[in-house]
Amino acid sequence: MAEGLNDRIYEQVRAAARRGALHHALLLTGPRGSGKGELARYIAAAMECTAPGDKPCMACAACRKVAAGIHPDVTAVRDEGHKILPVDTVRALCADAYIRPNEGARKIYIFEDSAQLDGRCQDILLKTVEEGPRYAAFLFLSENAAAILPTIRSRCVELKLRGAAETAAEDGAMLDRALELCDALCQGREDILASYLCALEQGKLKRPELSAFLSASREVCAAALLRQYGRKAPGIYEEMAERLAKNLTKAQLMGIIEILQKDWEQSAFNVGVGHMLGALAAELAALLPAKQKEK
Ligand SMILES: [Zn+2]
Repeated sequence: MAEGLNDRIYEQVRAAARRGALHHALLLTGPRGSGKGELARYIAAAMECTAPGDKPCMACAACRKVAAGIHPDVTAVRDEGHKILPVDTVRALCADAYIRPNEGARKIYIFEDSAQLDGRCQDILLKTVEEGPRYAAFLFLSENAAAILPTIRSRCVELKLRGAAETAAEDGAMLDRALELCDALCQGREDILASYLCALEQGKLKRPELSAFLSASREVCAAALLRQYGRKAPGIYEEMAERLAKNLTKAQLMGIIEILQKDWEQSAFNVGVGHMLGALAAELAALLPAKQKEK
C-alpha cells in the first residue's frame, strides 16, 4: 500500500481503527494520482480486518481479500459503460445495503469516481447514507469535494490526500504556526496561548491543516525533550527546541507531547476543528506552572 506523502492519514486511519472510530461515511479527495483508491482499500481493510491487534494487519484472510479486490462485502462502484451511474444501479445498491454482510463485519461501498454520481443519484443515496444499517459504510472518492452535494457531504468526514507540491507548501506553513504555538508555551502565558489558538480557529483552519499543525508542534516539543536529554534537535527547529528546553520541565514537555499526540490522532475523525482548538488551549494551559499563569 502506498503511504509515502500521505503517511499521516494512514497513521490516523490506524489510530481511528484502534478506537473503533472509523466513520461510516468518508469523502476521500485529492488530485489525480494521490492514491485515493489505495487509501480506500486500506480503510476497507481496517473495517474488515479480523486480526486481534492493530488494524488493518494486511495479513489476515479478510485484509488479503480486500487488497485483492475480492472481498464479498466490499463493493467497488464504477460503471465503465456510462458517464453517470444509472439510477437503477444506485437503487439496487441501496437495497443491497440492507442485506447483512456475507462474511465481514461491515458492508462497504467504494464510489471510485464520485463524478459518476449526479444530483439524482445522490438524492437516492442520501437516505441510506443517513440512516442505513450500522454495518454499512460509504467511501466517496473525488478529485474535488464539490462533486458531492452538501446534503451528503455534511454526513461525511473528509480525508484530503495531497500531491507532492501541496505537501511541501502546507508543511512549511504549519511549521511556522507550530513555532508560534511553542513561543506561547515558552512564555508560559495562558492568555497568549488561548488567544493564539482562537486566532487559528478564526483563520478557519481546515482539518488537514490542523493535523499538520498538531504534528509539527509535537515534533518541535519532542525535539525539545531530546535536547533536555542532551541530544541535538534537527536544524530547522533547533533554536525553538532549545528555548522550550530551557523554559519547560521534562514533565511539562512530556504532558504537552501526549496531548498533541492524542489530538493529532483524533484530528482526522469526528471532532470539529473549533471544538478541538478550544479543548487544546485548556489542556495546555493546565500544564503550565501556576506561577507562570499570572503574568
Ligand atoms: Zn487483517
